[in-house]
Amino acid sequence: MRTLANFIDGAMAAPRAGQYLDKTDPATGSVFARVPDSDSGDVALAVAAAERAFDSWSHTLAAERSRLLIAIADRIEARLGEFALAESIDTGKTLALATTLDIPRASANFRFFATAVLHASSETHTTDYAALNYTLRRPRGVAGLISPWNLPLYLLSWKIAPAIATGNTAVAKPSELTPSTAFLLGDVCREVGLPPGVLNLVHGPGAKAGAALVEHPAVRTISFTGGTVTGAAIAKTAAPAFKKITLELGGKNPTIIFGDADLDTHLPAIVRSAFANQGEICLCGSRILVEESIYPVFLERFVAAVKALKVGDPLVAGTDVGALVSEGHQQKVSRYIALAREEGGTIVCGGGPPASLPARCAHGYFLEPTVVTGLPMGCRTNQEEIFGPVVTVTPFRDEAQAVDLANHSNYGLAASIWTRDLGRAHRMAEAVQCGIIWINCWLLRDLRVPFGGMRQSGVGREGGDEALRFFTEPKSVCVKLG
Ligand code: NDP
Repeated sequence: MRTLANFIDGAMAAPRAGQYLDKTDPATGSVFARVPDSDSGDVALAVAAAERAFDSWSHTLAAERSRLLIAIADRIEARLGEFALAESIDTGKTLALATTLDIPRASANFRFFATAVLHASSETHTTDYAALNYTLRRPRGVAGLISPWNLPLYLLSWKIAPAIATGNTAVAKPSELTPSTAFLLGDVCREVGLPPGVLNLVHGPGAKAGAALVEHPAVRTISFTGGTVTGAAIAKTAAPAFKKITLELGGKNPTIIFGDADLDTHLPAIVRSAFANQGEICLCGSRILVEESIYPVFLERFVAAVKALKVGDPLVAGTDVGALVSEGHQQKVSRYIALAREEGGTIVCGGGPPASLPARCAHGYFLEPTVVTGLPMGCRTNQEEIFGPVVTVTPFRDEAQAVDLANHSNYGLAASIWTRDLGRAHRMAEAVQCGIIWINCWLLRDLRVPFGGMRQSGVGREGGDEALRFFTEPKSVCVKLG
């Protein structure tokens, strides 16, 4: 059995108290590793290392910081197979998805921010020709970075890269459910010679290691991605200490399909937007809204495509849907399927574990992609985040009703809109209350645009300039002329 370690001050470190948690492979249900069950003492060591490294790192030339981040990206790419396998075994997602999406996007995050800091500019204003005002941006110190289990390396690197590229040092806490790629990242940092303390990785449960990181007085900047309830708890701790926080939280995203949508071209993308990564992507569309003129045709074609998805061993080529991340999560999603039935919904396909699985996966945490119809928008199935392979399909009359249904949610993370009418697409983009809108596509990403949600999907934005601003503190300097 493999024993993972924290990465503190440039070296692998066992948890101080010697406590470990079992790490289970969700595709098989068997324990394959031990993860540090770190506590506030481990977090304190990591923060102290990050504090010691800050002065030197924050004064390191941008070109040198950039070189090291690019070296990290290069090493992740060179070890792609190793990272992708670790990610698949940690999460239950297909090896194909980890190889083509998660890991390449993680290395792209390092590459993007490595070059972004070389082009950062700051504003200067002349004030009535009597004074010159300029904005001085400096890194803020030690950043606490907390990420969830669904896209472990991708989401963690989305925080680490801008934090350290801008000259901060960081303590990152990955989800205890998915520690392996972060463990490998520590090894990569050692390989490329990242100075000790610049990035520290502490494993352990959120309620213990995560909470200690948020509470630590030296951690003045917190970037969190995870559930809305956890986000609220973090905000409550951080607010009285006036910490700067960004919260990327849950979603209940609408997929809005108009009668003129080009289904021949887009149906595969619509299916992917619902069930990619077993529906365990915060951006997956879980409420599919369909113009009533095409509702029966759409439902027939959609359900046929969903039934054709192959649920099975994530490590086998050709598998479309792997295992859910944990037994607890499989049970939670199953309870929502039961709730959908209780609320009067019709389960059109799926509804439970697959009838047959390969012997290796007999004890894994699998569920079939599930499509539910006939539910009102106000019911719990349509309002609460399920975060699994379950979608509802609901008809709408016209554009106005589509907007009403889409906005009938406390969340506001992402929406996708499928139509050939460009004017309508722009109107919908303006009217739908979500931070990210895709038109005739899903999950296409440009790292320069702001990323984040509205309402209970979070506060703050990540990505591009937003991240560079978040991790730096602006000072206004006024110089009197003459
Ligand atoms: P959680 O909120 O349970 O956990 C997220 C992270 O926070 C984990 O590392 C967790 O540790 C840690 N954590 C838990 N409790 C605390 C605490 N009290 N203080 C500090 N840290 C804590 O979310 P999940 O991991 O279950 O992830 C799924 C959620 O993430 C979904 O709601 C999903 O929508 C959201 N998400 C949002 C995204 C976005 O960009 N908006 C992107 C991806 C996911 P541990 O797991 O070890 O307990």
